[in-house]
Amino acid sequence: MYGLTDTDRQIQARAATFTDELIPLEVTAELNGGDLDKEVTAGHAARARELGLCSTNMPAELGGMGYTALQQVLVQEQVGRVTNALGWVCSTPPSWMTEVATAFQLEKFIVPTIRGEREECYAITEEGAGSDVDAIVATARRDGDEYLLNGEKWHVTSYNSADYAFFQGKLAGGDHDGEHAMFLVDLPSPGVRVLRTPAYSHTISHHHPIVAFTDVRVPASHLVGAEGDGMSFAYEWFRYERLMVAARCLGAASRLTDEITRFAAEREVQGQPIARFGQIQAMLADCLTELFAARALVYETARAIDAGADVKVQHGQCSMAKLYASEMAGRVADRAVQIFGGRGYMRENVAERFFRELRVERIWEGTSEVQRAIIADQMLKRGPRALA
Ligand SMILES: Cc1cc2nc3c(=O)[nH]c(=O)nc-3n(C[C@H](O)[C@H](O)[C@H](O)COP(=O)(O)OP(=O)(O)OC[C@H]3O[C@@H](n4cnc5c(N)ncnc54)[C@H](O)[C@@H]3O)c2cc1C
Repeated sequence: MYGLTDTDRQIQARAATFTDELIPLEVTAELNGGDLDKEVTAGHAARARELGLCSTNMPAELGGMGYTALQQVLVQEQVGRVTNALGWVCSTPPSWMTEVATAFQLEKFIVPTIRGEREECYAITEEGAGSDVDAIVATARRDGDEYLLNGEKWHVTSYNSADYAFFQGKLAGGDHDGEHAMFLVDLPSPGVRVLRTPAYSHTISHHHPIVAFTDVRVPASHLVGAEGDGMSFAYEWFRYERLMVAARCLGAASRLTDEITRFAAEREVQGQPIARFGQIQAMLADCLTELFAARALVYETARAIDAGADVKVQHGQCSMAKLYASEMAGRVADRAVQIFGGRGYMRENVAERFFRELRVERIWEGTSEVQRAIIADQMLKRGPRALA
């Protein structure tokens, strides 16, 4: 099914095997604030690497796996079947960096990240700038051979484990005054401090603190690309991450669909399996139908990328994939809680965990409303047939 090659299937099978090894640890993580023992997590990271599930998006000549977009989707789909972000050990560094990074940046930041020796985080969103990234007020001012960074960043995912950050600010002064620029900031660095670590709906080991950057000095060699380039990197990253969000949502929906099908066949009420009730059957049927539709959309989007589709078309299709797959997974999780009944409200139940965890898939990397705006904009500019 889905026209996968033998290689695609082997990659998919390795990712499935790895995910099956993680699933038994979900409840331990859930009841322990998202954390497993450090050695256990280190073991998972090593195993993911050994199975070829890390840096799948990075070129082989830099030590990455050099997978096709479809193969990357197949890995992330399997990884999406496990809750509590235990699958995040299958890390994917920012692939756009290979195009713009200097030799120094490749050696100091990117190649070690591909090898799993360094970890990045993204400091872009601010209190007043989320969907509208252009509204950021963080600044970067050139001072001799350095830049001086100032700003307060929200939701900085994985700050607690990362050892460098991508910081986006607006240039203050100079030829590109008011334009965006992106910088690499080693962590810890003088002037970078956590203001607050809020609690979020999901229970994962990666925190999302609010981080202040106060007069943080970085060498000019830490500027990514050129002054004024900052926004284009964010767009490039969004396009990639949106497709991967969609892939993980397929995995979550597929796990839930398997679990509710099994439960509905086993759970007896009034002397018969609940699967005999038409209302339960309708929910099961809707889950699988929507999962099939979403998977076809996501795989086709990945194939278009591999075939070298126009980058604007890729952008629109990745938005459609993220929009549909994340909303589909949310509906599947809601039905799954319902089918499990009271059990579905217990934190030890996979449906309860996914019900909370999947909610953010409609928010981060661009909300559903933002995806719809992107899709409609492209439809009006290029016509619907350019995209689908
Ligand atoms: C758990 C988590 C982790 C995150 N990790 C990171 C991270 O690592 N780094 C980082 O930089 N950011 C991160 N983010 C930020 C995330 O990308 C933003 O939350 C998201 O882009 C939405 O921005 P916002 O929260 O400011 O909402 P807002 O932009 O304030 O939006 C509020 C509402 O208005 C709607 N809206 C906005 N614009 C439009 C429009 N044009 N048309 C219609 N409706 C619109 C939105 O859809 C939403 O419903 C994270 C967020 C969360 C929740």
